[in-house]
Amino acid sequence: MTDGPHDPEHDPRASYALEPEYVAALTRRIVASSGRTAEVFSPLNGQPIAHVPQSTPADVAEAFARARRAQESWARTPLAERAAMLLRLHDLVLDRQEEILDLIVWESGKARKHAFDEPGHIALTARYYGRTAEQHLGTRRVPGIVPALTRVETHHVPKGVVGIISPWNYPFTMALCDGLPALLAGNAVVAKPDAQTMLSALFGAQLLEEAGLPADLWQVVAGPGPELGPALVDGADYVCFTGSTATGRIIAQQCAERLIGCSLELGGKNPILVLRDADIEKAAEGAVRGSFSNAGQLCVSMERMYVADQVYDRFVDRFVARTEAMSLGASLGWGVDMGSLISQQQLDAVTAHVDDAVAKGARVRTGGRARPDLGPYFYEPTILEGVTPEMTCFGHETFGPVIALYRFHEESEAVARANDGEYGLNAAIYSQDGNRARALARRIKCGTVNINEAFSATFGSIAAPMGGMRQSGMGRRQGAEGVLRFTETQSVGTQRLIRIAPMLGMSGELYAKVMTANLRLLKKLGRP
Ligand code: NAD
Repeated sequence: MTDGPHDPEHDPRASYALEPEYVAALTRRIVASSGRTAEVFSPLNGQPIAHVPQSTPADVAEAFARARRAQESWARTPLAERAAMLLRLHDLVLDRQEEILDLIVWESGKARKHAFDEPGHIALTARYYGRTAEQHLGTRRVPGIVPALTRVETHHVPKGVVGIISPWNYPFTMALCDGLPALLAGNAVVAKPDAQTMLSALFGAQLLEEAGLPADLWQVVAGPGPELGPALVDGADYVCFTGSTATGRIIAQQCAERLIGCSLELGGKNPILVLRDADIEKAAEGAVRGSFSNAGQLCVSMERMYVADQVYDRFVDRFVARTEAMSLGASLGWGVDMGSLISQQQLDAVTAHVDDAVAKGARVRTGGRARPDLGPYFYEPTILEGVTPEMTCFGHETFGPVIALYRFHEESEAVARANDGEYGLNAAIYSQDGNRARALARRIKCGTVNINEAFSATFGSIAAPMGGMRQSGMGRRQGAEGVLRFTETQSVGTQRLIRIAPMLGMSGELYAKVMTANLRLLKKLGRP
């Protein structure tokens, strides 16, 4: 691994700092009356970034009250106008990209090229929902019980106010991406982004306002999850949570208590399969991106790799070589391949997983150590061999730049091992035979499977629903499911000329006979 280029213009250790007025303009958006602030630091160099005002549970209730008032007229705003707001946001996000990237890198410590995925994902999401609003949310005529005489329409009614709890790892897109379809469907939002990365999320709120979102429809609160979580669930008509499986379970219980819906985007222990006919260079390149994007702090990143015996040695040599060629560094510029972990807590967790594996006999092919010389929380991209079930990193999510390699002989064995464990978020398969790989994909118990790509083929295709099977989540973001979850479907039926009951002195028995003949006829006619 090499150290990233020293870039004085964009070196946070030199002179970069956020202007206090800039930070204040962003944090003013938080509904917070406690008078308390929390200091946040940049993982790039440990320097303080901002004092973030902290909300109380009463502030959360106030945020819901404001959002609820604003939502009433938003729900009556024509769908085309709501969609146009998203398309304006699309342009703004692309135009203001550099500012967004600076904030993300500064707050999260990730490499700029990984930060780019965030405005990219928001632009894709805004365009997709902006352009498919009518397709997903328009009123539909559906067949009635009596052809021609029963007219039935279905409408998608907004749930009301959606609570969004988001994590620190993709602080701009995770704070915003679920909210865009919620707004499109006529809802308001109360968002609680992670405490470590409030500024990126607040900048998203500012861009929504600049895109023409009416006041008060997007409320932001700040503070520790366990303290604000109950008030957030109490005020919401639907909750959208992204984070750990442990917290997801708590949110699900609280939502069940109130009989409101929720979608949970949770953790993973994602497998990548390299089949014997894989293009080795392509697979090695994909394995680097799949395992080390955002230093592995990505829900869909790879932590287990199963490689066919026939290509194992060739593949591993290329994967190790490509990993060792990566440049690491604390920089706001484009020149580094991997940045920092976000916090001491993350560094401790990654170190503990690797140290535990090594103590129990795993071999480090490359990496395996922290790099305090680059910044307080840097850890090298790490490839392990010989990982066994008694090691913590065998089945538990590391959420860091660590991947374990395993050999396999038969593809059915690789599928069985990929399906091991309790998670089911994302998987990847490398093979030059698309048909075979797609057939194998259907046997993998994950919400998304990418072929010859680690995660972007599905995650970047917003028409494709994304989410976890098993302990990796409930519900889906993106696609039709991603917007319909924020609506109640209402059916309105109008009956004309005849009633759906015996008429003109007809006996119940005769009515049943007529209806039975009718039912048989309608099936014969191919009616649904
Ligand atoms: P986390 O569950 O600790 O925190 C996520 C969010 O929940 C934060 O905003 C936090 O403040 C809040 N929170 C914490 N406890 C809460 C409580 N009791 N009530 C209400 N809110 C609470 O998760 P994390 O460690 O910050 O994030 C990393 C995890 O997120 C990983 O497991 C990762 O796989 C997962 N993740 C999943 C996806 C996905 O789309 N499936 C995306 C990103 C991250």
